[in-house]
Amino acid sequence: MKTQRRNFIQKAGIIAASTAFLPNALWSATRRKKEKLGVALVGLGYYSTDLLASALQLTQHCALKGIVTGSPEKIPVWQQKYGIADKNVYDYKNFDSIANNPDIDVVYVVLPPSMHAEYTIRAAKAGKHVWCEKPMAPSVAACQSMIKACDSNKVKLAIGYRCQHDPNIQAYMKVGRERPFGKILMVNSAAGYFDGRTDHWKQSKALGGGAMGDMGVYALQGARLATGEEPISVLAQSYTTRPKVYDEVEETMMFQLEFPSGARAACQTSFGIPMNYLKISYEKGWLQMEPQSAYSGNKGVMSDGALIDYPIENQQAKQMDEDAVAILNNKDLLVPGQEGLRDIRVVEAIYKSAEKNCAINV
Ligand code: NAD
Repeated sequence: MKTQRRNFIQKAGIIAASTAFLPNALWSATRRKKEKLGVALVGLGYYSTDLLASALQLTQHCALKGIVTGSPEKIPVWQQKYGIADKNVYDYKNFDSIANNPDIDVVYVVLPPSMHAEYTIRAAKAGKHVWCEKPMAPSVAACQSMIKACDSNKVKLAIGYRCQHDPNIQAYMKVGRERPFGKILMVNSAAGYFDGRTDHWKQSKALGGGAMGDMGVYALQGARLATGEEPISVLAQSYTTRPKVYDEVEETMMFQLEFPSGARAACQTSFGIPMNYLKISYEKGWLQMEPQSAYSGNKGVMSDGALIDYPIENQQAKQMDEDAVAILNNKDLLVPGQEGLRDIRVVEAIYKSAEKNCAINV
């Protein structure tokens, strides 16, 4: 296994790709005045509670300093667990006064997608950098307004695409760019899980639910990152096996993408079927990742036997540290708002295609 991996590393020069984003390397070379950015989490649901708060404890350049919540019962639990000061606790009404709080440098929006634009724009107006969870927003117009607000308030906007910080994902992106196996002919990309909930925002159109925005963006990212291209046309179809639960949004979406090079992708996403893989067929070989978008354990193999299997301690900690280093050094973010917008442009076309039952140009 080690020899195979070395072969692949030598062939594809992956070491350069995977270490280019290590926060330690960047940080030691570019140390600046503030050592750690104070982060406030907005929305204390599953992702904040189970993943981000603990990941923040593992970062070198971030500190969990604030919370913004509409659930008063959560406040003492979070304060006790993470030592959050009273003055750094906000609700959705007094949130804008965060502008006067020097402890908070970054607002991380971890709310249902329909609320991302409002809280991103309010945070930007308060002069705070923004990290916003995926999907960036339900519409292209909302994404553009978020980018504009951050630009005009001179703050940075990162989208929480943790996978792009994972060296395993960076490895197949590099193969996509360098094409050691020739042209890409076909990509198969899937991301989904079984969601047994019946009254969550993921089943609500108004709150930005639906499998496409939630998990479909991973299937879409798989195809976009594997090819390094933007789709020029889409053809999509949705269906549901639980019409009483999924009466507003799709349970499953299947979508085909056509890329400028001629490569095609067949993608799927679902809240009814667990799936997590990426298969890329080149003229002279193939690359498979399974899983392709998990929190840990993303790994792949190529037709010559070379492996993609890099250890990563904590994706979210790496993501937040790398974003923090970019902010501290006023450098470009790895996954800026523009990247979230690129996905939503395609997502809008996918919905239009499924509704009109025809191919749509992006
Ligand atoms: P969740 O339902 O567990 O949490 C949402 C939070 O928003 C809750 O604390 C809830 O109280 C709050 N909220 C405020 N107003 C609300 C309203 N009107 N309706 C519903 N909730 C409201 O959701 P989650 O799984 O934590 O997801 C939050 C965001 O994080 C989403 O954008 C999701 O896509 C994203 N997410 C990203 C990842 C990832 O791997 N990057 C993983 C999970 C979730």
